[in-house]
Amino acid sequence: MPTATDSSSATRNPACAVPDRLLELWGELRDLKSLAELLDWDQETMMPRGGSENRAKMAASLAGAIHQKLTSERLWETILACEEEARSAGDELLTAQVREAKRDASRARRIPESLAKELAEASSLGTTAWQEARKGSDFGMFAGHLQRLLSLAKQKAAALHPAGKAYDALLDGFEPGATEEQLVPLFDHLVAELSPWVQQVVESGRRVDESPVLGKFAKAKQRELSRHAISAFGFDFDRGRLDLSVHPFCVGVTPTDVRLTWRYLENDLRSALYGALHEAGHGLYEQGIPEELWRTPLGDAVSLGVHESQSRLWENQVGRSIGFWRWLWPKFAELFPGQAAKTSPESVWPALHTVRPSLVRVEADEATYNLHIALRFRIERALFANDLAVADLPSAWNDACEELLGVRPDRDADGVLQDIHWSQALFGYFPTYTLGTMVSAQLFQAAQESLGPQDGAFADGDFAPLLAWLRKHVHRHGRRYGASQLVEQVTGRPLAADDLLEYLQASVARAYGL
Ligand code: ZN
Repeated sequence: MPTATDSSSATRNPACAVPDRLLELWGELRDLKSLAELLDWDQETMMPRGGSENRAKMAASLAGAIHQKLTSERLWETILACEEEARSAGDELLTAQVREAKRDASRARRIPESLAKELAEASSLGTTAWQEARKGSDFGMFAGHLQRLLSLAKQKAAALHPAGKAYDALLDGFEPGATEEQLVPLFDHLVAELSPWVQQVVESGRRVDESPVLGKFAKAKQRELSRHAISAFGFDFDRGRLDLSVHPFCVGVTPTDVRLTWRYLENDLRSALYGALHEAGHGLYEQGIPEELWRTPLGDAVSLGVHESQSRLWENQVGRSIGFWRWLWPKFAELFPGQAAKTSPESVWPALHTVRPSLVRVEADEATYNLHIALRFRIERALFANDLAVADLPSAWNDACEELLGVRPDRDADGVLQDIHWSQALFGYFPTYTLGTMVSAQLFQAAQESLGPQDGAFADGDFAPLLAWLRKHVHRHGRRYGASQLVEQVTGRPLAADDLLEYLQASVARAYGL
């Protein structure tokens, strides 16, 4: 039997620095995860409805196999041996590889199998209960499940990080290294600026003419418009797909097989186009993970926040620019000649920057979306600090919604019951949405400082310089640097809300003529 110490520099892959022995184990693990992702994609796009019960068993078996591999003694000993090797060789790349492998394995190893099973079961029951509760707009039907999910999540946090804050331990699962203490000032600053400013826009009584993007837009033509834009961004359809689903998402099965999904509204062009541009941003990141890092511990995205920064950047900074619309115009006019005859890129543009405080996060505009996230972040922190009881959630939610957005839900379905996340024990996930949006604005600012203003290039359909910049500074590193280190390294300053605020306020002021 070979032993873990067999991994020597003689059998190391120079491109990724990982000893063959770790490479083999990690590659198998990655393949199983890819299979699980492929199953998820299939379930959302292709699977017949009757397939769900047996599919759940397949998914559970696969999840079990992944957990076994990730927590195996063989992998752990190999990681420790490689850690030793990285230390004596002083190899920075190998050190990063081992750091990420160790992080994933140790997180998995700290959670007792019984707790993992209980969590999986509670999430499955919780999701079904949440669906029913939401349908009836009755929080009482879900409260017991949520109580159990919270208590299990707290147990998980204690297992992961016995001495630390429970919320930090969960946050770390989505945004490695992030802490509540670090995020609170960012969110406080954002809310302090954004919330009163949104009210000001509302109270100005000004309206934006949205008719240029409203009308009747055939599904096939909307699909063609989205594919046209995504291809121009640089998404490689020989290594990717675009299919319909209920909720748009992106799955990077491998960097050479990246699946995007979209949905559409026949009467509003924005839903399909901006959903597709968003997912394409995720997809470009997945396609940008370099071949030599794939199937190694560094061959993944840095964090959910950094992933979201890529989707937001292509959706907002690029897709909502006037240059983009000037470039898109001939295609738009070819597909929708009647609509194009009545309007112009300049009159479409304001309709992409509306501000309308609403109750439901997934329907929110670009600016108020972040207030929806701030609300969830506030509530989650209160729940994990034991400052808020589950029974008091609906009223706490409604109060916070009124305070931040100026609107108050009159039923739970439009309030505390609107999101699926908590029913799946995803606590600490929400803040990554806004974190990513902040990162996107700061990255785009840095890109333009280095490349010059990009609007003219966009108008010429030249998106390649921006993609190349992102490939060089973000994509090609995989998980080599942590999120905050990466942002600081690329933009020359720590993450802050300023660039996002400036971008939002400037575009909205222009759209509303304020
Ligand atoms: Zn996203």
